Amino acid sequence: MNEEKIDLPKELFDDTPLEPTKVFDNLYCIGSRSVVAWALKTSEGIILIDSMWDNHDGQLIIDGMKKLGLSPQEIKYIIITHGHGDHYGGAQFIKDNYKAKIAMSETDYNFMNTVNSGANGPRSPKCSVDIMIKDGQKIESGDTLVTIIETPGHTPGCISLIFSVKENGTNYNAVLWGGTGAPSDLEGKLYYRKSIDYFEKYAQIEHATVEITAHLFSENGYSKLETVRNRNDNETNPFIIGEDGIKNYFDNLRKQIDYMIEKQKKQ
Ligand SMILES: [Zn+2]
Repeated sequence: MNEEKIDLPKELFDDTPLEPTKVFDNLYCIGSRSVVAWALKTSEGIILIDSMWDNHDGQLIIDGMKKLGLSPQEIKYIIITHGHGDHYGGAQFIKDNYKAKIAMSETDYNFMNTVNSGANGPRSPKCSVDIMIKDGQKIESGDTLVTIIETPGHTPGCISLIFSVKENGTNYNAVLWGGTGAPSDLEGKLYYRKSIDYFEKYAQIEHATVEITAHLFSENGYSKLETVRNRNDNETNPFIIGEDGIKNYFDNLRKQIDYMIEKQKKQ
């Protein structure tokens, strides 16, 4: 775990809150410079994607939702992308206060409960899981479907998501790559490499044009969020990057991991 820590970006420890922002007609971003949660509004409740680091962050998500006019009482599911504390840490607090159901892969449920160092330190309370999600599973809520794709690598049971977002009556398919950053071991990196190809296939089938992430520092997200908040009606949403943009995104992920794999093989 120490080795992993060396690679962690400094922004991961920056708890400065970001202004809660409506990014699409049905998708809201709440969080800090470290990590954010996404609230996906459906015709029958809200699906929360990830939950930040701890109880304090859980409260920050609740307060941010209220500020955006979303009722936390409506949170139906919390989907946890993977078993690192910065994604599951606020979930139990929200579940206890608003009766949401927590969904997570079984592999990372076990990972969360057996690893207690690195990103899984005492800061982040472990959570109980109601729905053990699997590859290809869909979480449905009213008019909204979230497709779960298992993308092991960042953690053994990391998942990535595909769902639809709306803007001015147009639907766009969004991809959310669940695990930002390669793991330290070579085996994990090889899984990560494979998962990029696997997830990209689904992104292509769904003609995804929007890219969403929990770690805004990784994708120039701070400035995108600011642009979304301050833009005029005729300005494009910077989170819509088009099918070419999505292809570039995956190509870059591949380039980075290939470089790291080659470097590690030479050691
Ligand atoms: Zn992580």
